[in-house]
Amino acid sequence: MSDLRTRFEAAFMPNYGVPPVALARGEGCRVWDTAGREYLDLIAGIAVSSLGHGHPALVEAVSAQAAALAHTSNLFLNEPEVLLAERLRELLGGDGRVFLANSGTEANECALKLAIKYGKQNGRSYFVAAENGFHGRSLGALSLTGKASIREPFGPFAIDVRFVPYGDAGALKASVDEDCAAVFLEPTQGEAGVVPPPDGYFTAAREICDAAGALFVADEIQSAIGRTGTWFAFEHENARPDVITLAKGLGGGLPVGACVAFGPHGDLFAKGDHGSTFGGNPVAAAAALAVLATIEKDGLLAHAVSVGEALASGLAAIEHPLLAGVRGRGLWRAAVLTGPHAAAVEAAARDAGFLINALQPDALRIAPPLVLTAGQARSFTDAFPSILDAASPGQEG
Ligand SMILES: *Cc1c(COP(=O)(O)O)cnc(C)c1O
Repeated sequence: MSDLRTRFEAAFMPNYGVPPVALARGEGCRVWDTAGREYLDLIAGIAVSSLGHGHPALVEAVSAQAAALAHTSNLFLNEPEVLLAERLRELLGGDGRVFLANSGTEANECALKLAIKYGKQNGRSYFVAAENGFHGRSLGALSLTGKASIREPFGPFAIDVRFVPYGDAGALKASVDEDCAAVFLEPTQGEAGVVPPPDGYFTAAREICDAAGALFVADEIQSAIGRTGTWFAFEHENARPDVITLAKGLGGGLPVGACVAFGPHGDLFAKGDHGSTFGGNPVAAAAALAVLATIEKDGLLAHAVSVGEALASGLAAIEHPLLAGVRGRGLWRAAVLTGPHAAAVEAAARDAGFLINALQPDALRIAPPLVLTAGQARSFTDAFPSILDAASPGQEG
Protein backbone atom coordinates (compact mmCIF):
# COMPACT_ATOMS: atom_id res chain seq x y z
CA MET A 1 0.00 0.00 0.00
CA SER A 2 2.65 2.56 0.97
CA ASP A 3 4.45 1.41 -2.14
CA LEU A 4 1.38 2.12 -4.30
CA ARG A 5 1.05 5.54 -2.71
CA THR A 6 4.69 6.35 -3.46
CA ARG A 7 4.29 5.20 -7.04
CA PHE A 8 1.03 7.16 -7.39
CA GLU A 9 2.76 10.29 -6.16
CA ALA A 10 5.64 9.86 -8.60
CA ALA A 11 3.47 9.02 -11.61
CA PHE A 12 0.55 11.44 -11.30
CA MET A 13 0.19 15.19 -11.40
CA PRO A 14 -0.11 16.56 -7.88
CA ASN A 15 -3.68 17.89 -8.33
CA TYR A 16 -5.35 15.32 -6.04
CA GLY A 17 -2.88 14.75 -3.27
CA VAL A 18 -2.28 11.08 -2.44
CA PRO A 19 -5.44 9.24 -1.31
CA PRO A 20 -5.13 7.42 2.03
CA VAL A 21 -6.50 4.04 0.93
CA ALA A 22 -6.03 1.87 -2.17
CA LEU A 23 -9.18 -0.12 -2.83
CA ALA A 24 -8.99 -3.52 -4.41
CA ARG A 25 -12.53 -4.91 -4.53
CA GLY A 26 -16.09 -4.46 -3.35
CA GLU A 27 -19.29 -6.34 -2.75
CA GLY A 28 -22.56 -4.56 -2.01
CA CYS A 29 -21.73 -1.71 0.37
CA ARG A 30 -18.47 -3.26 1.53
CA VAL A 31 -15.04 -2.63 0.03
CA TRP A 32 -11.64 -4.10 0.78
CA ASP A 33 -8.30 -2.35 0.51
CA THR A 34 -5.16 -3.86 -1.00
CA ALA A 35 -4.15 -5.18 2.45
CA GLY A 36 -7.49 -7.03 2.76
CA ARG A 37 -8.99 -4.64 5.30
CA GLU A 38 -12.79 -4.26 5.08
CA TYR A 39 -14.73 -0.98 5.16
CA LEU A 40 -18.38 -0.01 4.96
CA ASP A 41 -18.57 2.29 1.95
CA LEU A 42 -20.67 5.32 2.89
CA ILE A 43 -19.44 7.53 0.07
CA ALA A 44 -19.93 5.34 -3.03
CA GLY A 45 -17.16 6.99 -5.02
CA ILE A 46 -18.82 10.41 -4.58
CA ALA A 47 -22.48 9.37 -4.89
CA VAL A 48 -21.72 7.25 -7.97
CA SER A 49 -21.93 3.54 -7.12
CA SER A 50 -25.70 3.62 -6.70
CA LEU A 51 -26.12 -0.18 -6.74
CA GLY A 52 -23.07 -0.75 -4.56
CA HIS A 53 -20.19 -2.88 -5.80
CA GLY A 54 -20.38 -5.97 -7.95
CA HIS A 55 -24.16 -5.82 -8.33
CA PRO A 56 -25.12 -8.80 -10.54
CA ALA A 57 -27.41 -6.68 -12.75
CA LEU A 58 -24.61 -4.21 -13.49
CA VAL A 59 -21.93 -6.88 -13.92
CA GLU A 60 -24.14 -8.82 -16.28
CA ALA A 61 -25.19 -5.81 -18.37
CA VAL A 62 -21.66 -4.45 -18.69
CA SER A 63 -20.02 -7.81 -19.42
CA ALA A 64 -22.59 -8.80 -22.00
CA GLN A 65 -22.39 -5.46 -23.78
CA ALA A 66 -18.58 -5.37 -23.68
CA ALA A 67 -18.54 -8.83 -25.22
CA ALA A 68 -21.10 -7.93 -27.88
CA LEU A 69 -19.87 -4.44 -28.86
CA ALA A 70 -17.98 -1.97 -26.69
CA HIS A 71 -18.00 1.12 -28.88
CA THR A 72 -19.63 2.52 -31.98
CA SER A 73 -18.92 6.31 -32.00
CA ASN A 74 -21.72 8.49 -33.28
CA LEU A 75 -21.05 7.49 -36.85
CA PHE A 76 -23.24 4.49 -36.00
CA LEU A 77 -26.14 4.19 -33.62
CA ASN A 78 -26.56 1.43 -31.07
CA GLU A 79 -29.62 0.11 -29.29
CA PRO A 80 -28.51 0.68 -25.66
CA GLU A 81 -28.06 4.43 -26.23
CA VAL A 82 -31.52 4.68 -27.76
CA LEU A 83 -33.09 2.67 -24.93
CA LEU A 84 -31.35 4.89 -22.38
CA ALA A 85 -32.50 8.13 -24.01
CA GLU A 86 -36.05 6.75 -24.21
CA ARG A 87 -35.99 5.69 -20.57
CA LEU A 88 -34.71 9.09 -19.42
CA ARG A 89 -37.43 10.84 -21.44
CA GLU A 90 -40.03 8.57 -19.89
CA LEU A 91 -38.82 9.31 -16.36
CA LEU A 92 -38.74 13.04 -17.11
CA GLY A 93 -42.17 13.43 -18.66
CA GLY A 94 -41.80 12.57 -22.33
CA ASP A 95 -40.91 15.79 -24.11
CA GLY A 96 -37.17 15.78 -23.36
CA ARG A 97 -34.41 15.45 -25.93
CA VAL A 98 -31.21 13.83 -24.76
CA PHE A 99 -27.48 14.28 -25.31
CA LEU A 100 -25.27 11.55 -23.84
CA ALA A 101 -21.82 12.42 -22.51
CA ASN A 102 -19.17 10.77 -20.34
CA SER A 103 -19.17 12.89 -17.19
CA GLY A 104 -21.00 15.55 -15.29
CA THR A 105 -18.74 18.27 -16.56
CA GLU A 106 -19.50 17.32 -20.14
CA ALA A 107 -23.23 17.22 -19.44
CA ASN A 108 -22.93 20.80 -18.16
CA GLU A 109 -20.86 21.85 -21.18
CA CYS A 110 -23.74 20.68 -23.34
CA ALA A 111 -26.23 22.63 -21.21
CA LEU A 112 -24.03 25.72 -21.39
CA LYS A 113 -23.69 25.53 -25.16
CA LEU A 114 -27.48 25.19 -25.42
CA ALA A 115 -27.84 28.24 -23.18
CA ILE A 116 -25.30 30.24 -25.19
CA LYS A 117 -27.20 29.39 -28.36
CA TYR A 118 -30.50 30.34 -26.72
CA GLY A 119 -28.91 33.61 -25.60
CA LYS A 120 -27.61 34.45 -29.08
CA GLN A 121 -30.97 33.71 -30.65
CA ASN A 122 -32.74 35.97 -28.16
CA GLY A 123 -30.22 38.75 -27.58
CA ARG A 124 -29.35 37.58 -24.05
CA SER A 125 -25.81 37.86 -22.88
CA TYR A 126 -25.19 36.81 -19.29
CA PHE A 127 -25.62 33.83 -16.98
CA VAL A 128 -26.48 33.47 -13.33
CA ALA A 129 -25.20 30.80 -10.95
CA ALA A 130 -24.86 30.41 -7.20
CA GLU A 131 -22.01 31.28 -4.89
CA ASN A 132 -20.25 28.15 -3.65
CA GLY A 133 -21.94 26.11 -6.37
CA PHE A 134 -20.07 23.40 -8.24
CA HIS A 135 -20.58 22.56 -11.90
CA GLY A 136 -17.28 21.01 -12.99
CA ARG A 137 -13.69 21.76 -13.90
CA SER A 138 -13.62 22.37 -17.65
CA LEU A 139 -13.47 26.03 -18.62
CA GLY A 140 -17.19 26.37 -19.39
CA ALA A 141 -18.36 24.48 -16.31
CA LEU A 142 -15.70 26.18 -14.19
CA SER A 143 -16.88 29.61 -15.26
CA LEU A 144 -20.28 28.70 -13.74
CA THR A 145 -18.71 27.28 -10.58
CA GLY A 146 -19.28 29.62 -7.66
CA LYS A 147 -16.51 28.34 -5.46
CA ALA A 148 -14.00 31.15 -5.93
CA SER A 149 -10.94 29.21 -4.76
CA ILE A 150 -11.20 26.75 -7.65
CA ARG A 151 -12.52 29.22 -10.27
CA GLU A 152 -10.41 32.30 -9.85
CA PRO A 153 -6.95 30.79 -10.48
CA PHE A 154 -8.08 29.95 -14.04
CA GLY A 155 -9.93 33.10 -14.99
CA PRO A 156 -10.74 35.25 -16.80
CA PHE A 157 -13.48 33.33 -18.61
CA ALA A 158 -15.21 33.79 -21.92
CA ILE A 159 -18.75 34.22 -20.58
CA ASP A 160 -20.27 36.72 -18.17
CA VAL A 161 -21.48 34.84 -15.08
CA ARG A 162 -23.04 36.64 -12.12
CA PHE A 163 -23.09 34.84 -8.80
CA VAL A 164 -25.91 35.11 -6.28
CA PRO A 165 -26.12 33.76 -2.71
CA TYR A 166 -27.64 30.27 -2.85
CA GLY A 167 -31.16 29.89 -1.45
CA ASP A 168 -31.99 33.61 -1.59
CA ALA A 169 -34.93 34.00 -4.01
CA GLY A 170 -34.91 37.80 -3.66
CA ALA A 171 -31.27 38.03 -4.73
CA LEU A 172 -31.97 35.69 -7.64
CA LYS A 173 -34.91 37.78 -8.77
CA ALA A 174 -32.85 40.98 -8.62
CA SER A 175 -30.14 39.38 -10.80
CA VAL A 176 -32.25 37.89 -13.60
CA ASP A 177 -33.57 40.27 -16.25
CA GLU A 178 -34.34 40.17 -19.99
CA ASP A 179 -30.62 40.03 -20.82
CA CYS A 180 -30.09 36.83 -18.83
CA ALA A 181 -29.70 33.73 -20.99
CA ALA A 182 -29.82 31.09 -18.27
CA VAL A 183 -29.75 30.34 -14.56
CA PHE A 184 -27.76 27.30 -13.41
CA LEU A 185 -28.60 25.86 -9.98
CA GLU A 186 -28.11 22.68 -8.00
CA PRO A 187 -31.31 21.51 -6.20
CA THR A 188 -29.11 21.08 -3.12
CA GLN A 189 -25.51 22.24 -3.21
CA GLY A 190 -23.43 19.07 -3.11
CA GLU A 191 -19.76 20.01 -2.99
CA ALA A 192 -20.57 23.07 -0.85
CA GLY A 193 -21.51 20.64 1.92
CA VAL A 194 -24.87 19.04 1.04
CA VAL A 195 -26.65 22.35 1.63
CA PRO A 196 -30.38 22.30 0.83
CA PRO A 197 -32.06 25.62 -0.03
CA PRO A 198 -35.09 26.86 1.91
CA ASP A 199 -38.39 25.26 0.83
CA GLY A 200 -39.84 26.95 -2.21
CA TYR A 201 -36.52 28.11 -3.67
CA PHE A 202 -36.69 25.95 -6.79
CA THR A 203 -40.30 26.97 -7.40
CA ALA A 204 -39.28 30.60 -7.04
CA ALA A 205 -36.34 30.08 -9.41
CA ARG A 206 -38.72 28.53 -11.95
CA GLU A 207 -41.04 31.54 -11.70
CA ILE A 208 -38.19 34.05 -11.90
CA CYS A 209 -36.83 32.40 -15.06
CA ASP A 210 -40.31 32.26 -16.62
CA ALA A 211 -40.92 35.93 -15.87
CA ALA A 212 -37.59 37.00 -17.41
CA GLY A 213 -37.57 34.44 -20.22
CA ALA A 214 -34.29 32.89 -19.05
CA LEU A 215 -33.54 29.17 -19.32
CA PHE A 216 -33.66 27.35 -16.00
CA VAL A 217 -30.92 24.71 -15.89
CA ALA A 218 -30.88 22.25 -12.98
CA ASP A 219 -27.54 20.59 -12.34
CA GLU A 220 -28.75 17.26 -10.93
CA ILE A 221 -25.45 15.52 -11.49
CA GLN A 222 -25.16 14.59 -7.81
CA SER A 223 -28.80 14.89 -6.68
CA ALA A 224 -30.64 12.67 -9.18
CA ILE A 225 -31.16 8.94 -9.75
CA GLY A 226 -32.63 8.20 -6.35
CA ARG A 227 -30.09 10.01 -4.20
CA THR A 228 -32.79 12.06 -2.42
CA GLY A 229 -35.47 9.35 -2.62
CA THR A 230 -36.97 10.52 -5.93
CA TRP A 231 -35.62 10.00 -9.43
CA PHE A 232 -34.81 13.70 -9.64
CA ALA A 233 -34.49 16.19 -6.81
CA PHE A 234 -36.56 18.82 -8.64
CA GLU A 235 -39.57 16.56 -8.03
CA HIS A 236 -39.62 17.69 -4.39
CA GLU A 237 -40.97 20.98 -5.69
CA ASN A 238 -43.29 21.59 -8.57
CA ALA A 239 -40.51 23.13 -10.62
CA ARG A 240 -39.38 21.24 -13.68
CA PRO A 241 -36.35 22.93 -15.23
CA ASP A 242 -35.88 23.63 -18.96
CA VAL A 243 -32.63 21.69 -19.01
CA ILE A 244 -31.35 19.06 -16.60
CA THR A 245 -27.88 17.54 -16.33
CA LEU A 246 -27.14 14.08 -14.93
CA ALA A 247 -24.09 11.90 -14.35
CA LYS A 248 -22.66 10.41 -11.13
CA GLY A 249 -25.25 7.82 -9.96
CA LEU A 250 -26.64 7.25 -13.45
CA GLY A 251 -23.95 4.81 -14.56
CA GLY A 252 -23.52 3.08 -11.21
CA GLY A 253 -19.73 3.39 -11.64
CA LEU A 254 -19.43 3.46 -15.43
CA PRO A 255 -18.73 6.92 -16.86
CA VAL A 256 -21.89 8.40 -18.34
CA GLY A 257 -23.46 11.84 -18.31
CA ALA A 258 -26.63 13.21 -19.85
CA CYS A 259 -28.10 16.56 -20.69
CA VAL A 260 -31.87 16.61 -21.26
CA ALA A 261 -33.65 19.68 -22.62
CA PHE A 262 -37.44 19.97 -22.62
CA GLY A 263 -39.95 21.21 -25.15
CA PRO A 264 -38.59 23.60 -27.78
CA HIS A 265 -35.21 23.76 -25.98
CA GLY A 266 -34.60 20.17 -27.00
CA ASP A 267 -34.29 21.41 -30.58
CA LEU A 268 -31.80 24.24 -29.97
CA PHE A 269 -28.82 22.45 -31.48
CA ALA A 270 -28.59 22.13 -35.21
CA LYS A 271 -26.72 19.27 -36.84
CA GLY A 272 -23.01 19.70 -36.15
CA ASP A 273 -23.41 21.94 -33.08
CA HIS A 274 -22.13 19.43 -30.55
CA GLY A 275 -20.68 15.95 -30.27
CA SER A 276 -18.60 13.41 -28.39
CA THR A 277 -16.67 10.38 -29.61
CA PHE A 278 -17.51 8.32 -26.55
CA GLY A 279 -20.96 9.82 -25.80
CA GLY A 280 -23.66 7.17 -26.20
CA ASN A 281 -21.11 4.43 -25.60
CA PRO A 282 -23.07 1.17 -25.48
CA VAL A 283 -21.31 -0.24 -22.40
CA ALA A 284 -21.98 2.93 -20.40
CA ALA A 285 -25.56 3.02 -21.69
CA ALA A 286 -26.09 -0.64 -20.75
CA ALA A 287 -24.79 0.13 -17.26
CA ALA A 288 -27.17 3.07 -16.89
CA LEU A 289 -30.11 0.97 -18.09
CA ALA A 290 -29.24 -1.69 -15.49
CA VAL A 291 -29.06 0.99 -12.78
CA LEU A 292 -32.45 2.46 -13.71
CA ALA A 293 -34.10 -0.97 -14.02
CA THR A 294 -32.72 -2.15 -10.68
CA ILE A 295 -33.75 1.01 -8.83
CA GLU A 296 -37.28 0.47 -10.11
CA LYS A 297 -37.45 -3.31 -9.64
CA ASP A 298 -35.99 -3.26 -6.13
CA GLY A 299 -37.91 -0.21 -4.92
CA LEU A 300 -34.71 1.68 -4.15
CA LEU A 301 -36.36 5.11 -4.16
CA ALA A 302 -38.55 4.20 -1.18
CA HIS A 303 -35.60 2.36 0.33
CA ALA A 304 -33.42 5.49 0.08
CA VAL A 305 -36.13 7.45 1.89
CA SER A 306 -36.49 4.99 4.76
CA VAL A 307 -32.82 4.11 5.27
CA GLY A 308 -31.94 7.78 4.80
CA GLU A 309 -34.41 8.74 7.55
CA ALA A 310 -32.98 6.09 9.86
CA LEU A 311 -29.46 7.30 9.17
CA ALA A 312 -30.39 10.93 9.78
CA SER A 313 -32.39 10.27 12.93
CA GLY A 314 -29.62 8.02 14.25
CA LEU A 315 -27.11 10.83 13.75
CA ALA A 316 -29.46 13.50 15.09
CA ALA A 317 -29.91 11.51 18.31
CA ILE A 318 -26.19 11.62 19.08
CA GLU A 319 -25.19 14.20 21.64
CA HIS A 320 -21.54 15.03 21.28
CA PRO A 321 -19.57 18.27 21.60
CA LEU A 322 -18.18 17.81 18.07
CA LEU A 323 -21.54 17.21 16.35
CA ALA A 324 -23.77 20.18 15.50
CA GLY A 325 -26.41 18.36 13.45
CA VAL A 326 -27.31 16.64 10.23
CA ARG A 327 -28.73 18.01 6.98
CA GLY A 328 -29.76 16.65 3.60
CA ARG A 329 -32.35 14.27 2.27
CA GLY A 330 -32.61 10.57 1.40
CA LEU A 331 -29.22 8.90 1.27
CA TRP A 332 -27.43 12.21 0.81
CA ARG A 333 -26.51 13.69 4.15
CA ALA A 334 -23.95 15.88 5.81
CA ALA A 335 -22.92 15.44 9.42
CA VAL A 336 -22.24 19.01 10.47
CA LEU A 337 -19.55 19.55 13.08
CA THR A 338 -19.11 22.32 15.63
CA GLY A 339 -15.65 23.18 14.30
CA PRO A 340 -13.10 22.32 11.63
CA HIS A 341 -12.74 18.67 12.64
CA ALA A 342 -13.94 16.93 9.48
CA ALA A 343 -10.53 15.63 8.40
CA ALA A 344 -9.93 14.13 11.85
CA VAL A 345 -13.40 12.56 11.90
CA GLU A 346 -12.93 11.12 8.41
CA ALA A 347 -9.65 9.53 9.53
CA ALA A 348 -11.15 8.19 12.76
CA ALA A 349 -14.09 6.75 10.81
CA ARG A 350 -11.66 5.03 8.46
CA ASP A 351 -9.79 3.55 11.42
CA ALA A 352 -13.15 2.23 12.63
CA GLY A 353 -13.91 0.71 9.20
CA PHE A 354 -16.22 3.35 7.67
CA LEU A 355 -15.53 5.44 4.56
CA ILE A 356 -17.02 8.93 4.73
CA ASN A 357 -15.82 12.16 3.16
CA ALA A 358 -14.58 15.38 4.78
CA LEU A 359 -16.36 17.66 2.35
CA GLN A 360 -15.85 20.94 4.16
CA PRO A 361 -13.70 21.70 7.20
CA ASP A 362 -16.81 21.29 9.35
CA ALA A 363 -18.98 18.89 7.28
CA LEU A 364 -18.77 15.21 6.37
CA ARG A 365 -20.59 13.79 3.39
CA ILE A 366 -22.48 10.51 3.71
CA ALA A 367 -23.68 9.32 0.30
CA PRO A 368 -23.73 5.52 0.40
CA PRO A 369 -24.91 3.13 -2.30
CA LEU A 370 -28.72 3.16 -2.50
CA VAL A 371 -28.65 -0.51 -1.43
CA LEU A 372 -27.32 0.33 2.04
CA THR A 373 -29.30 -1.78 4.53
CA ALA A 374 -30.92 -0.41 7.67
CA GLY A 375 -28.56 -2.63 9.66
CA GLN A 376 -25.52 -1.16 7.93
CA ALA A 377 -26.77 2.38 8.56
CA ARG A 378 -27.28 1.43 12.21
CA SER A 379 -23.77 0.01 12.51
CA PHE A 380 -22.45 3.41 11.49
CA THR A 381 -24.67 5.52 13.74
CA ASP A 382 -23.84 3.16 16.64
CA ALA A 383 -20.12 3.61 16.00
CA PHE A 384 -20.21 7.35 15.35
CA PRO A 385 -20.01 8.57 18.98
CA SER A 386 -16.75 6.72 19.56
CA ILE A 387 -15.47 7.91 16.16
CA LEU A 388 -16.17 11.48 17.30
CA ASP A 389 -14.42 10.76 20.60
CA ALA A 390 -11.36 9.47 18.76
CA ALA A 391 -11.33 12.61 16.59
CA SER A 392 -11.74 15.03 19.49
CA PRO A 393 -8.92 17.52 19.97
CA GLY A 394 -6.30 16.00 22.23
CA GLN A 395 -7.20 12.47 21.11
CA GLU A 396 -5.55 12.53 17.71
CA GLY A 397 -2.41 10.57 17.00
C1 LIG B 1 -19.63 16.03 -9.60
C2 LIG B 1 -20.39 17.20 -10.09
C3 LIG B 1 -20.10 17.80 -11.33
C4 LIG B 1 -18.94 17.35 -12.18
O1 LIG B 1 -19.08 16.03 -12.60
P1 LIG B 1 -17.80 15.22 -13.16
O2 LIG B 1 -18.38 13.88 -13.52
O3 LIG B 1 -16.80 15.18 -12.06
O4 LIG B 1 -17.30 15.93 -14.34
C5 LIG B 1 -20.90 18.85 -11.75
N1 LIG B 1 -21.93 19.28 -11.00
C6 LIG B 1 -22.25 18.74 -9.81
C7 LIG B 1 -23.42 19.24 -9.04
C8 LIG B 1 -21.48 17.68 -9.31
O5 LIG B 1 -21.76 17.17 -8.11
